[in-house]
Amino acid sequence: MTKGLVRNERCVHCLRLTDSITADHVFPSSWYPDTTPGAVQHWTVPCCSECNRELGKLEQDLLVRLILCVNLKSEAASGLASKALRSLGIDASGLSEREKIYRRRFRDKIRSELMPQADLAGKPGRIAGLGPPEGSESQWSIPIPWAGLAIVAEKIVCGCEYKLSDRLVEPPYAMRIFVSPSDFVPEPYASASQVFEFGPGCSVRRLFARVDPNVVLYWISVWNTLHFNVKIDLEDELMQADQRASQVQGMPGDLNRRAMQISPYLRNHPQPDPSLGTKRHS
Ligand SMILES: [Zn+2]
Repeated sequence: MTKGLVRNERCVHCLRLTDSITADHVFPSSWYPDTTPGAVQHWTVPCCSECNRELGKLEQDLLVRLILCVNLKSEAASGLASKALRSLGIDASGLSEREKIYRRRFRDKIRSELMPQADLAGKPGRIAGLGPPEGSESQWSIPIPWAGLAIVAEKIVCGCEYKLSDRLVEPPYAMRIFVSPSDFVPEPYASASQVFEFGPGCSVRRLFARVDPNVVLYWISVWNTLHFNVKIDLEDELMQADQRASQVQGMPGDLNRRAMQISPYLRNHPQPDPSLGTKRHS
């Protein structure tokens, strides 16, 4: 059933009550390969215009970086190259002058961030699933902000929770995101009954705890290349688990690199205004 978008809804991502509600794609709209069958459902959820705009920019930026690191000969990714080229202003027709300038700047930005692979040899920070495409002669690497990937994975999960259990993920519950080192779907995900397809190689598996249905596990596959393992649990439980396990990390530390900069809006997510959340009409 489609949920109608009404005024003064809460944004699924920043949780604020807003009168500028928009529809945000649960799976990033720019990440659907061109080869996605028409029958695939494109879920959307209520999202404030600020989150929608900033997430859209982040997804577009990540798409171009990721596309340089995936095997485009794979069925899942073959419909992506043309999308990435278009966002760089290559092979795109009918663009306005302003859009052409924007895309040229974006292209220059990406080019300026390429690093010789030799500079990174032996250093940590490679993200599982990504790397030079097989058979590629490329001598270059591109930085991919781990924080950005985590924000997109979190967004997918928040959207799925809203669609599947009519829920906003909010305190005392929180989320942790991990990148899985392999494309092998482990148990208990492999036998999960809730599996949702978002296009070639893109799917979500969901499991919940019987003792507390708000404790939820997700396995997200993106283009059969990138695999996220996500846990929603009580923040206290997650903090205890954090102490037991070392977190998967992307590029180490250097947040001053331009490519590592995430929109300050997304980094410092606005806190919902409690006075709005409890407002009652008398
Ligand atoms: Zn928002």
